[in-house]
Amino acid sequence: MSVRVVARIRPLLKNELDKDKIVEAADSKAVVRIPNPKNESELYSFQFSSVYDEAATQQEMFENEVSPTVKHLFKGCDVTLFAYGVTGTGKTHTMRGGKSLADRGVIPRLLSSIYRRARKVEKDTNNATQIEVSMSYYEVYCDKIFDLFEPPDKRTPAGLPIRDNQNGKAVVVGLTERSCTTLKEFEQLYDQANLNRSTSATKLNAHSSRSHAILCVKVTQTTGGEVQVSTASAIDLAGSEDNRRTDNNKERLVESASINKSLFVLASCVEAISKKQSRIPYRESKMTRILALGQNNGHCVMILNLAPVRSYHMDTLSSLNFANRTK
Ligand code: ADP
Ligand code: MG
Repeated sequence: MSVRVVARIRPLLKNELDKDKIVEAADSKAVVRIPNPKNESELYSFQFSSVYDEAATQQEMFENEVSPTVKHLFKGCDVTLFAYGVTGTGKTHTMRGGKSLADRGVIPRLLSSIYRRARKVEKDTNNATQIEVSMSYYEVYCDKIFDLFEPPDKRTPAGLPIRDNQNGKAVVVGLTERSCTTLKEFEQLYDQANLNRSTSATKLNAHSSRSHAILCVKVTQTTGGEVQVSTASAIDLAGSEDNRRTDNNKERLVESASINKSLFVLASCVEAISKKQSRIPYRESKMTRILALGQNNGHCVMILNLAPVRSYHMDTLSSLNFANRTK
């Protein structure tokens, strides 16, 4: 599995226009610079495969980071995309994006590209190859798995169980898989499922920024009797901020501990993959176990979302340190 770790610094928001920008892209967009909080004349540098600043468009993010993986997906390799960062840094904007065409995030663009390629392959093979696309979408909250096709009031509090199938791959038992044959169909299902995410947000205290949202798009190519299956997964990770510093409420502590653990395991897996180590600790958390992270010859892109302002200084440094571990 190959890994790319890139950073994306979001623009100042309307209510931040009077604020100091302390984070910048440098060295031909391969380095993030940020001051030492104890001595601001000293600048720290963090290296990435690529760094995007506020000028980067949604189109650019997709073209540079995600579009190149689509050909691998059609060759049977799995693709895994992560957005990592503190709440408010642009993870959902990067992954899902806004309603307008220009604002669409990498997920709808990826699907659009998958359908375009699927139609082309079918046409080029005179329909000898048939391609089906299906999706599942779930969240991991406090180490429990919830199907986002289920309305929150239908959820079993314990979440869905994981079992190993006969190939030794972990699968979520009872997870809905919906077939989607067009981009429009995908978008309807995706929007509907996202509603289940935000509904629970009001009920469960901004729960949506405290859970990992995992979208899995399965591409099945059938030629005669031969079937090739590959999966593109796009994960809008839980906010990486440590609530233990700011909030002592018991529910928050449990959430934070579980988020920290899963993000720690994720970093360990990405680190092991980048260093080509033979042991990847993917079984140590539910998310990495289901994704079977590093267990195939796939491609992984981790986008580190950053806010440019001083109020995020310490959190931005922890995000950068997290990313540093994965290289
Ligand atoms: P997160 O999902 O990490 O909590 P959001 O994606 O919700 O963060 O982004 C927080 C706010 O910043 C939103 O209002 C979003 O529209 C805006 N935003 C984030 N990234 C960008 C960007 N690259 N360009 C314009 N606005 C952005
Ligand atoms: Mg979000």
